[in-house]
Order: sequence, then structure tokens, then C-alpha cells
Amino acid sequence: MIAGKTVVVFTAHPDDEVGVAGTLAKIRRAGNRLVLAVATDGSKGTHDPGVSPAAMARIRTREMEAAAQVLGAELVWLGYADGTLEHHREALRERVFQLVRRYRPDLLLTFDPWRRWEPHADHRTIGMAAFEAAYLADGCWYYPEHLDQGLDPHFTPETYLFYGEDPDVTVDIEATFATKLEVAACHASQIPDPGAQEIRWRERLRRAGRPETDLYREYFHTMRGTELGI
Ligand SMILES: [Zn+2]
Repeated sequence: MIAGKTVVVFTAHPDDEVGVAGTLAKIRRAGNRLVLAVATDGSKGTHDPGVSPAAMARIRTREMEAAAQVLGAELVWLGYADGTLEHHREALRERVFQLVRRYRPDLLLTFDPWRRWEPHADHRTIGMAAFEAAYLADGCWYYPEHLDQGLDPHFTPETYLFYGEDPDVTVDIEATFATKLEVAACHASQIPDPGAQEIRWRERLRRAGRPETDLYREYFHTMRGTELGI
């Protein structure tokens, strides 16, 4: 198991981290620095027209803060409105390059931007920006003004893409499954009955024809195939 490393996660919304929370808890528990960068405020995460986007953003900000605390993660907000990332593609890309150069991750995790039938542009957009930054932020002529800000180029040795169809790494999360449930329960506005979360996950696996043991596994596609032993 890796230890003493910096791991940075880029997501689009508060609660996007839930599906990989077992792995994140495992990484943190082993003694790594964990930084969770969330691109938007989650302000469109309601079906109730009586709840304003501003009110929703306040609720989801608090929920995300609670989830980060459970994970022992440092939380970084990129400050975009929910559902707008593709309209800010260039500014977002620079911000992500900046963060990669500031935190200098040994491992970066983000959405698989090529996930088939992914309906949410925010997921595709943050995935692509973070994926590019992991690979290209070591190029000094990408945003050379960062040098004046004291941010040197940085190459991220390994990237794990999550929620895609083509995983090549399986992480056993049995030891941190309880923490994953706890993280899920933090996002109460998105999960009507947090106590039934495990039952819902089991049902989803059954419907997908996957074994129930998958409840204790999380899957990733690695970019360089580095053996991290997570
Ligand atoms: Zn999302």
C-alpha cells in the first residue's frame, strides 16, 4: 500500500466521490495526503422548484464539507455553478493545471471522460480537464504565467479514471466499506433514505447481473499501469 504520497481527486459535484469513497478512505487511512477538488456547487441537484439554486448550493456545500471530514480530505472548491462546466472549459482547464502544479499529486483520480452514455457534461468536462492536466501540466509553455505565481510544472506519475467501462485495477474496500456508507449518508439531500443505501447498492448489482461481492470492490482504469497496491 502506498503511504506518504499526495493524492488529488477531481470531481464535478458534491456526492460524485461516493462511488470511490472506499478507495479514498483506504488511501487516507494508509497515511497519504488526500485533496478533494470539487468543480461545482451542486446547485441544480433538486427536483423541487421551491428550492432555489442558492439554497441548494448552501445545503450541498455543507454536505460536501461533512463528507470530506469523514474522509480526512482537504476540500478545494473550484467555484463553478452546477451544469455549466462545458461553458467554462478553458478557464476550468487552467484552474485544474494550477491545482496540479500547487498540490503536485503522485496519484490523480477523476472521471473517465470517455465513459459511454454519460449524460452529464460536467462529468465529461472535469474528467477531460484533469486527465489533460495530469499529463500536460509538466509542460512549461502551458500557462507560463504560473511560473510567476511560484507554480512549477508537474508531471503526475499515475492517473486513475473512475466510473468507466474498461477497468484494469480492482480495489478491495471491505475494510473501509463502513466509511463509504458514512460518506454517502453525508449527502442526505441526494439520498432520501441513507439507511437503505446498502440495500439499494445490492439491488443495483443484482439488476446488473454482477456478484454481490462487488459491493466491496471499486474499479479504475489506470493510465500508466503503475502498481500502487491500493
Ligand atoms: Zn455528478
